[in-house]
Amino acid sequence: MKLCMVIPCYNEEEVLLETAARLSEKYDKLIFDGKISSDSRIVFVDDGSKDRTWAIISRLSKENVYFEGLKLSRNRGHQNALLAGLLTVKDKFDAVISMDADLQDDINAIDKMIESYCDGNDIVYGVRSGRRKDSCFKRWTAQSFYKVMKWMGAETVYNHADFRLMSRRALDALAEFSEVNLFLRGMVPLIGFKSDTVYYERSKRFAGKSKYPFRKMLSFAFEGITSLSIRPIDLIIRLGILLCAVGVGILIYALIQHFLGHTTAGWTSLMASIWTLGGIQLSAIGVIGKYIGKIYLETKHRPRYIIEKNTMDEDK
Ligand code: UDP
Ligand code: MG
Repeated sequence: MKLCMVIPCYNEEEVLLETAARLSEKYDKLIFDGKISSDSRIVFVDDGSKDRTWAIISRLSKENVYFEGLKLSRNRGHQNALLAGLLTVKDKFDAVISMDADLQDDINAIDKMIESYCDGNDIVYGVRSGRRKDSCFKRWTAQSFYKVMKWMGAETVYNHADFRLMSRRALDALAEFSEVNLFLRGMVPLIGFKSDTVYYERSKRFAGKSKYPFRKMLSFAFEGITSLSIRPIDLIIRLGILLCAVGVGILIYALIQHFLGHTTAGWTSLMASIWTLGGIQLSAIGVIGKYIGKIYLETKHRPRYIIEKNTMDEDK
């Protein structure tokens, strides 16, 4: 099996050499054990780093046959860097594993991923078995992230980030998703095919700082929800209907008060119209939003289906 690993890097000069050393050792062993072929590769994608990352990558590619480099013209973010790597290499390899540069993902899980691929799985998700080594805050925010995502209608694999193996045909299918706003961990499950999960313990960042501070994580979550789901629009419609109902209640209450003579002139009509109008406006915005949501989904030009097998292609 001809394997490729794709590793996006943004200002990772502190960890890159260590990551490269460990991966090279891993490849030696995998090749020796006959699990992958000797023309397997590791591709580092430099996502417009401002430090010496690219210099290190280009040196590695000259010194060691396993390593190759890809340099983006500027910083485009983790998801774009990853996709650039995946789509560039997909036709040359049987399967591709994506992994972070900071050694948080356990490279020993690669063995299990390869085994699972050989058992016929097209997508193998690396799932964290625990987050004991993350800080309390990171653990809490990350877990809330998955829960809110699910509630908002954006299905993702729980505790899975972007450490995963994808076969060539799964990558061909991914290439058909032509959207620009990327949220890969939500898009990959949409592909389908036989998939599997491999559990691993997530470690601390080997060196350097996280490139995903809280602010970026929030915007990433928002990106995920708005790329995968139009559920927020449904929530607006529901709120609008609720407000209309409250408006009717207030109307009845205001009329009773009016007939009992407890009101000053104008109060009844004012109270009733504020709530009812607010409700009607919100529902109307929601309905318009629903159409915009549909237009949004159409503009993504996602594949309507992906064929897994076709007996017409088989020799009988
Ligand atoms: N990364 C990238 N471009 C960016 C930010 C991050 O390619 O704009 C890479 C980074 O080098 C790392 C991976 O994405 O390999 C995950 O980033 P990080 O480890 O900082 O995120 P965390 O694990 O803290 O969520
Ligand atoms: Mg990390």
